[in-house]
Amino acid sequence: MLFTGEGFMEPRASNLTDNFIQEIIDKDKKSNKYHGRIHLRFPPEPNGYLHIGHAKSIYLNFGIAAHNNGLCNLRFDDTNPSMEDTEYIESIIRDVKWLGYDWEDRLFYASDYFEAMYDYALQIIRAGKAYVCDLNPEEIRKFRGNFNKPGIESPFRNRTIEENLVLFTKMRNGDFPDGSRVLRAKIDMSSPNLNMRDPVLYRILRATHHRTGNKWCIYPMYDYAHPLEDYYEKITHSVCTLEFEDHRPLYDWVLNVLNLPEPPQQIEFARLNLNNTIMSKRKLRKLVEGDYVSGWDDPRFPTLSGLRRRGYTPEVIRNFCEQISISKSNSVVDIRFLEHCIREDLNLQSPRVMAVLRPLKVVLVNYPENQVEEMDAENNPENPNAGKHKISFTRNIYIEREDFCENPPKKYFRLSPGREVRLKNAYIIKCEDFIRDEKTGEVIAVHCTYDPESKSGRPGAERRVKGTLHWVSAEHALKAEVRLYDYLMLEKNEETVISEEGEDFIRQLNPNSVEILKNCLIEPALSTASIGSRYQFLRKGYFCLDIDSTKDKLIFNRIVSLRDSWAKILKANNK
Ligand code: ATP
Ligand code: MG
Repeated sequence: MLFTGEGFMEPRASNLTDNFIQEIIDKDKKSNKYHGRIHLRFPPEPNGYLHIGHAKSIYLNFGIAAHNNGLCNLRFDDTNPSMEDTEYIESIIRDVKWLGYDWEDRLFYASDYFEAMYDYALQIIRAGKAYVCDLNPEEIRKFRGNFNKPGIESPFRNRTIEENLVLFTKMRNGDFPDGSRVLRAKIDMSSPNLNMRDPVLYRILRATHHRTGNKWCIYPMYDYAHPLEDYYEKITHSVCTLEFEDHRPLYDWVLNVLNLPEPPQQIEFARLNLNNTIMSKRKLRKLVEGDYVSGWDDPRFPTLSGLRRRGYTPEVIRNFCEQISISKSNSVVDIRFLEHCIREDLNLQSPRVMAVLRPLKVVLVNYPENQVEEMDAENNPENPNAGKHKISFTRNIYIEREDFCENPPKKYFRLSPGREVRLKNAYIIKCEDFIRDEKTGEVIAVHCTYDPESKSGRPGAERRVKGTLHWVSAEHALKAEVRLYDYLMLEKNEETVISEEGEDFIRQLNPNSVEILKNCLIEPALSTASIGSRYQFLRKGYFCLDIDSTKDKLIFNRIVSLRDSWAKILKANNK
């Protein structure tokens, strides 16, 4: 685990063109390995939706290919029918496109190679390098030994080639029950690398495959299938995550035993980990199937569909991937850095509007009833070309409940008895009185006077007061629902969560990861918002119109709050 600075990884400048994978490619180009061809692939298994970790892999594979005038395929590694589904295929295609990548006509399925893989297995048997083994899975595990103990050879290891050919053909023909036999590579039961102790190449499994249906009842194992998939597609550099490092000798063994020309080479990099986040597809799936979240696109999810619904753009995710390092040692990226990336984007892009999330009524007792003034509001102070829009100002308005305090603590510069504040884009008001609910004692309205000389933009407006509040007109505001999100997981570090045995990660779910506010009031300008459009609600954060919205019921997701704790960390580190 690599932690730097305050315990969090520093972002770094562009790394797509300057990393250890590129160094390998440069060397290969120089030596004319693969005749100068550079061909990569992104090979998801369609057993869940893509998450931001996959985005790093997509960014890297497609990015490095493009940088080297090479190609990158999209390939579904669909060799495990019991977990896979076309819903996942469709979502993966949508998400890779959304991220901005193009595989042209190179969309492949591992299942298209099943027949050829089978023929190669026969070839390996004929070479005396694979055998059918009748041990059950439990026995195979026991015979394998461990780091301290060499394995024991299977009693079926020395079957004749002829017998193996007959048995393997029968396996394919469905003559044996599931799990009763496997095809194993004949390598070395005393290898220090457990993956080389006669690994299983094929198993018997009666499951309907989403593409090949019931044609097959034997399926290749990942370690056997993957190098062959890469070989068929003429991949040169097969980039994957570090957990496959110990599998590389087996990857090479398969290509070598078949004597295949120009074999691809496997290169491993460190996967992306984010704190307060779960990123294993298996675990995300548990949360979806157990109704812990609203679906794969739940805005709290690190899936690309969740991030999209939350208000993230492909540019922001690519920019994030650009800045996290490509390395060979595992690390955890602070999720606040991801938030920093979206905040920078939103700050430049999003129109400013006013929305009151927890409304408290304010009556301006000296403001004429029925009068409406149109106030100018800047759309984006960061962008002078963004223009202005009008906001109606009236006698009855709403402010944020937390912006009034009967007995203010020190340094409370908002509204309190006898004090003045400015209403953004409008007037200075002074609190004269307030009304309580007789039963509950809760403050239900505040009475204020406004200073007619203090209108924003006028000479009298130069008079300064400490606090500026956002507000909406009671007569004009629209009702909306707002969903405030917090981190999905309590744990700071995914590694600790993952190391928990069993389904304990469920206990690490943040019980307060969403708060739904149903009675928010927003500027009428938002009535024309389209799904996915993003705004800054002044003082409250960045929000995006959720897909659940209807014309009569607007629902906003908070993308991120305004406070940038990452910027603070950087500043503290630079001191
Ligand atoms: P998960 O553990 O989330 O289920 P996976 O590795 O099983 O992920 P695959 O569909 O096999 O998922 O992944 C496709 C590609 O994406 C692989 O090359 C894998 O190495 C890469 N990948 C998966 N997770 C990450 C991650 N967190 N960071 C970077 N790359 C990743
Ligand atoms: Mg996998």
